[in-house]
Amino acid sequence: MATMDAATWAQRGRQVWMGGAIRPDTTMVSGRGVWLTDTDGREVLDFVGGWAVCALGHGAPEIVQALREQAAKLVHCGPGFWNPGAIELAERLATITGMDRVFLGSTGAEANECAIKLARKWGARSKAGAFTILSTWKGFHGRTLATMAATGKPEWHGLFGPPSEGFVHVDYGDLSAMDAAMGPEVCAVLLEPVQGEGGVLSAGRPYLQGLRDLCDKHRVLLIHDEVQTGLGRCGAWLAGDLAGVRPDIVTLGKGLGGGFPVSCCATRRELDLFEPGDQGGTFTYHPLGAAVALAVLRAIEERGLLENAVARGAQVGRILSELAPRHGLAKPRGAGLLRAFDLPGPGAAALVESARGHGLLLNAPKPATIRLCPPLTVSEAEVVEFGRRLEHALEDR
Ligand SMILES: *Cc1c(COP(=O)(O)O)cnc(C)c1O
Repeated sequence: MATMDAATWAQRGRQVWMGGAIRPDTTMVSGRGVWLTDTDGREVLDFVGGWAVCALGHGAPEIVQALREQAAKLVHCGPGFWNPGAIELAERLATITGMDRVFLGSTGAEANECAIKLARKWGARSKAGAFTILSTWKGFHGRTLATMAATGKPEWHGLFGPPSEGFVHVDYGDLSAMDAAMGPEVCAVLLEPVQGEGGVLSAGRPYLQGLRDLCDKHRVLLIHDEVQTGLGRCGAWLAGDLAGVRPDIVTLGKGLGGGFPVSCCATRRELDLFEPGDQGGTFTYHPLGAAVALAVLRAIEERGLLENAVARGAQVGRILSELAPRHGLAKPRGAGLLRAFDLPGPGAAALVESARGHGLLLNAPKPATIRLCPPLTVSEAEVVEFGRRLEHALEDR
C-alpha cells in the first residue's frame, strides 16, 4: 500500500470532497473493536462510533461474514423483486418494533421521509387533508429538504430556498406547548425520545407518555425518530420501550447496519396506506444491507449487547460523575451508551482536540457539549481506559 502522511491525505481530500467540513488531518484506514487506526498507524479509542453507528465495533466478524456470504450470492436485484434477506429483516424489525409493516431504505433521512409521507397520506385520507407535522426545537431528523425543515434548527430553515412547508416547532419537553399547537391541520408529531444531536436531552417518561395521550386525544399520529436512540443504543431495543410508549410510526437507522447504510420505517398494518408508486427507491430492500442488519440484530441478542450497553453506560456515568467536580463538568446524562456532559464554556471543540492527542475520539454536537456513543461491545477495561484518557485530556485542555 502506498504510504502517505496524514496531512497529504487531508489536503487531497479538501480538493475533492464537497462542502469543506471541518475535519482534523486524520485519515482512518482500519479498525478493530473500539479501536481505529489512522494512516500513521496510531490507534485511538473510538467513543464516537461513527456517530452512534458502529454498534458492533469495527471489523466485527459477524458483519464481515454476512458481507462476504451475501456478496457472493446476490448484492442487488432491484426492489422490483422479493429477496429472502430483506423479508427476514422486515419480519425481525416488525417484531422488535411491535409493528406489522416495514420499509427498508439506506439512511435515517430516507426513513424519516417515508414516515412524513405516510403521515401526510393518512392526513389526506383520514383527517380532511391535515398535513402539518409538529416537531421539536433542537430535534434532528436529517439533511434532505423535508427533514431539514422538520429539524428544530432555525438557522437551517430557508437555507436552500423556501423551507419545505407544513412543519411547526414547539419546545421539547413542554406538553402544554404541544397541546396548544394541536389543531385540525395537524396529522403527526415527530420527535426523538432522546434528542441526540441536540445534546442527548431526554424529555423523560411522563412527557413521552403524556404526548402519546395527547396524540390520541387530538387524533394525531405519533412518530418516534429512533434513528439514533434505537437498537440498543440506550440499553433497550427502543428508547420508546424504556418510556413504555408505542408510537404509530418508528424510524431506525444508524446502528441498524452497524456501519453499513440500512434504515427502516415501521408502522401498523392499517397505517400502511402506500399504494404502488408512492414510496420506493433503487436501493430499498437491499439484499446486502439486509444481510448485514440481520447479522447485527443477531449479534446484539447473542452477545447480550443490550445488557452490556446498560452496564457499560452506567460505568461511563459513574466516571463522568467522579470527574465532574474536579474538572467542572456539568450535567452528566444519558441512557445506555448514549451519554453526554457539558463544559462550563464553549470548550468542547478544544476538548475533542485534546482527547485526540491522548488517543481518544470524542464528539461535540454543541459548542459546550461532549457526546459519547461508543460501540455497544465496549468492555469494562476499555471504559476504564476511556476514563483515564478523558482525565488526561481534561487536564491538558
Ligand atoms: C442521524 C440522524 C438522522 C439522519 O440520519 P442519516 O442517516 O444521516 O440520514 C435522523 N434522525 C436522527 C435522530 C439522527 O440522529
